[in-house]
Amino acid sequence: MSGQEFQDHQIRDRIAINYKYSLGGQSKFFIELMNNKKLLGTKCSKCGKTWMPPRINCSDCYALAEWVEMKQTGTIEVSTIVWYTTSAFIKAIPYAIGYIKLDGAQTAFLQGIFSENLVPSKVKKGSRVKAVFLKEREGKMIDFFFVPEDEYESWINKPEYEGGA
Ligand SMILES: [Zn+2]
Repeated sequence: MSGQEFQDHQIRDRIAINYKYSLGGQSKFFIELMNNKKLLGTKCSKCGKTWMPPRINCSDCYALAEWVEMKQTGTIEVSTIVWYTTSAFIKAIPYAIGYIKLDGAQTAFLQGIFSENLVPSKVKKGSRVKAVFLKEREGKMIDFFFVPEDEYESWINKPEYEGGA
């Protein structure tokens, strides 16, 4: 057999995997988002810090934190415009993502920011945004996104979206 070149034989096949994963102690956030269009954070029972995204225990003092309903308006802390993305969002590009601090929260979280006229000045630090919800929600982070406050009415009048609780 020496002198013969190795030939690799390949067969194209596919694997399908059905699975579930638990969101554990943070499940309530996703259930309220899906069913009631509420955004829940948590407030530390000891030091009073309000966490958004919610933490079950305060990451500063480790005391138990309690669920609190957050306002659905906030301020952009930092943002960037997205030109490369996964298949789920390919039709949306360009769009922005940013860290948003909801009013009343002491922490910020990453979320999509959509605009009908996306220019960097629309999503700069300090810009005011408001949450818009998908009508068809599954209890996932992509059930909602933020828009500039002055575009809110226009977004919630689109057939696939609606305003929050
Ligand atoms: Zn604390």
